[in-house]
Amino acid sequence: MKLASKLLVAVLLVVFTAMPALAEKTIKWKLAMTWPSTLTPLASPPIKLAEMVEKMSGGKFLIKVEGKEKHKAALGILDMVKGGQYQMGHSASYYWKGKDMSMVFFTTVPFGMNAEEQYAWFYYDEGMKLMEKAYDKFKVLSFPGGNTGVQMGGWFRKEIKSLDDLKGLKMRIPGLAGEVFAKLGVNVTNIPAGELYTSLDRGTIDALEWVGPGMDIKMGFHKIAPYYYTGWHEPASEMQFLINKRAYAKLPPEYQEMLQVAMKATAADMFSENFGASANAWAKMKTEYPNIKVKTFPTPVLKAMKKATDELLNGYAAKDPQFKTILDSQRAFMKKARAWTLISEYNYIKTSEELEK
Ligand code: CA
Repeated sequence: MKLASKLLVAVLLVVFTAMPALAEKTIKWKLAMTWPSTLTPLASPPIKLAEMVEKMSGGKFLIKVEGKEKHKAALGILDMVKGGQYQMGHSASYYWKGKDMSMVFFTTVPFGMNAEEQYAWFYYDEGMKLMEKAYDKFKVLSFPGGNTGVQMGGWFRKEIKSLDDLKGLKMRIPGLAGEVFAKLGVNVTNIPAGELYTSLDRGTIDALEWVGPGMDIKMGFHKIAPYYYTGWHEPASEMQFLINKRAYAKLPPEYQEMLQVAMKATAADMFSENFGASANAWAKMKTEYPNIKVKTFPTPVLKAMKKATDELLNGYAAKDPQFKTILDSQRAFMKKARAWTLISEYNYIKTSEELEK
């Protein structure tokens, strides 16, 4: 071969090996989420993730996001991702506690870590490793997908002055917190989101919890139940991205990396979006409804909640080695994290607020 031809072959080789991504065909995925597409900020991470991935891949990796209004299976996300009908999902891990009680730890537990502490547990302690192991049996990967921060304890029509006031109270409060309240004599019910306002208005229930001002304001509960209790039960509810393991393994590594980056970015973004929405909504609520009374449950009530929470957690741990491993990991990390939170964030807020008085 002549030198010129040799050079041409060499150049072509370099060009073709440098552009394999361009030669690939478009990858199309579907993502199902528990929420309706309009329910921000919960629906924000998957919607923003799809936009990011499309841009980062130059339009080669497309993820179609479908809300509850489309697939009609809000609590079927894990099954649909496991089965491969959807390559991805967005939901909350504690919805799968019926399949495996340990799933609650990857969302939040009553009196558990706050969002900063919990994110450190996920990313810089044992959280991710333990979550991967727990989800392995479903053949799906699970990643943090956005945090609500501390949720409010809920809207009550009457003030809770003692443990006796909880006896027979009808309240919508799901998850482990519902089990805690049931132990304290509360008549716990779960009512679909669309019926909550009417149920509270008509007295079918006496109280309910939702999220925090940013999401609560749209529901209008503050117009009919004046007591707004501070949080204890969902101190850092983490949403969750799910990915079908086989689908993920088939992705080119650069697309896997795009997903990893976009999941982490949109999770952090939801935390900020919800914080901002709550700050603005709370300012508006306070002005427009000055009768709202922010209350913290009396100490004997909180002590009883804490005792019931520990009894429940220890009870599940005694029966389930995986539950115990994750509980021990969270407790051990929380002990260190809380000691740091107390002399850093907490102390800063406390001391700087005292100066304003
Ligand atoms: Ca809630």
